[in-house]
Amino acid sequence: MSARLLVCDADGRIYDRPDLALAGQVGDRWVPVTADDLVPVPEGTKVFFLPGSRAVGWDEGRGRPRTLKRVRAVAALLQAGYTRTHLPAAAYPKGTPPKRGCHDYLPLWAYAAVGWDGDRMVAAAFRSDPMTHSETHHYDDRQIAPRVEARVARHAGNRLVRHLARCALEYHCFAAKNWFMERWEAPLPAAPSCNARCVGCISLQPADCCPASQDRIGFVPTVDELCAVAVPHLERVPRGIVSFGQGCEGEPLTVANRLAEAVARFRDRTGKGTIHLNTNGSLPDALVRVARAGLDSVRISLNSARAETYDAYYRPRGYRFDDVVASVRAAVDAGLYTALNLLVFPGVNDRPEEVDALERLIGETGLHMVHLRNLSIDPALYLGHLPPRLRSGAGAIGLRNLAVRLKRRFPRLDLGYFNRPREAFGAPVVDALGWAREAAGKG
Ligand code: SF4
Repeated sequence: MSARLLVCDADGRIYDRPDLALAGQVGDRWVPVTADDLVPVPEGTKVFFLPGSRAVGWDEGRGRPRTLKRVRAVAALLQAGYTRTHLPAAAYPKGTPPKRGCHDYLPLWAYAAVGWDGDRMVAAAFRSDPMTHSETHHYDDRQIAPRVEARVARHAGNRLVRHLARCALEYHCFAAKNWFMERWEAPLPAAPSCNARCVGCISLQPADCCPASQDRIGFVPTVDELCAVAVPHLERVPRGIVSFGQGCEGEPLTVANRLAEAVARFRDRTGKGTIHLNTNGSLPDALVRVARAGLDSVRISLNSARAETYDAYYRPRGYRFDDVVASVRAAVDAGLYTALNLLVFPGVNDRPEEVDALERLIGETGLHMVHLRNLSIDPALYLGHLPPRLRSGAGAIGLRNLAVRLKRRFPRLDLGYFNRPREAFGAPVVDALGWAREAAGKG
């Protein structure tokens, strides 16, 4: 038995069921989770029950799933840097999670299957990035809060600094905390609006769906406000990164002129650090303008390299999937370190036609990195928006196998979870992980 099923009783006690193996969900199907797909839950992982659910385990004797009526399903929210391979297997008597207040769906988190191996909790996932700066022990608010207060006071009148203070202390955004701690990657949110309507948008959600994780910024910072945040970080922080395109804003390319002006000013002031843009890649010409101003790298978000699956989730307004592909090409041609932010979902991104389309996009554009980021959404909400024939997970090869296959086919491709400082643009950082080195034939 790979791992035992974990369940939660009506009193909130979580325990294992020795008679049932851990089951997971791939697409909309329940399957057994094999030992190859299990890792000890990493530091900082949250484990909780799914409200209104019934736990589903795998009956190895009968070779099929078994739903338990009196106990709830248990799920994990993994530490960043791990890509989940299976969703939690959970049944809902009424077919979907019960209404919670006005919300029909679970919060926008990346739910993963979690079990018990006799000694400890194990999750259906694999480590996809060796970088450790997102480990929760780095984020002690007893240290961070006084630095927030001091820096807000030093930047009186700067709306962006006040916004980041809220992000750091209310939304607990690690990037915002990093600016106040003067280390690693710092955020530069700038866009109040967006030209997409992602089903799982974390900054803007319709009232009856699920709560947005944070409010969108309500203003476009001035070049001076952006400089006051970015230049000291670029100048003083070793391997420092400043990034446009955060969870608390819309699409940064909708304010591309402001970004281009700001980036040019940053580079007038310092040649150090990495200036990065996270974007939905909807406006290739605008991207080129910002690139020419002095951008170093870009990460273009998509949930699929196929228009049909992309449109079902992003619901683009005034642009098409072809524009996103054009942005990838334009970014590589402009000399930017170019990454995809692939929002992965077990049973969707590892289907044969999705894998083929992704490999074609990588091969044809020469992009440098693919982030394998867990899509943070209620599985029922996501699957409900996909065309029915894409829900089953039919022929899915497994997300871990997808990662290995990409490394075999593109040994110089970097894979992971986090943006890279320009000092790391040359060699794939992921090769520090055994599975990636092996797949790339580097022994
Ligand atoms: S591109 Fe970003 S801001 Fe725009 S709808 Fe999607 S998640 Fe939200």
